[in-house]
Amino acid sequence: MPLVPQRADVPVTIDESKCIDGCTLCVDMCPLDSLAIDPDTSKAYMHVDECWYCGPCAARCPTGAVTVNMPYLLR
Ligand code: SF4
Ligand code: SF4
Repeated sequence: MPLVPQRADVPVTIDESKCIDGCTLCVDMCPLDSLAIDPDTSKAYMHVDECWYCGPCAARCPTGAVTVNMPYLLR
């Protein structure tokens, strides 16, 4: 049993294979502007490592591409 809770490297991960070109819903939903669309791939990604774990980015994604990696201590 590890003494330190495991933490994902990035608060929010996006499955690029599910992200729809032209969609910006998760970017628009984030109150911290932590998400952005990569101009090269047209896919969403986390460009600022800051997150309230509030969840609308994942809830609003039409394809379920967004995963909020809730820290163990906040679950
Ligand atoms: S809401 Fe989903 S499909 Fe839309 S940009 Fe974000 S990750 Fe991509
Ligand atoms: S969980 Fe909230 S703060 Fe974190 S990326 Fe999603 S909308 Fe932004």
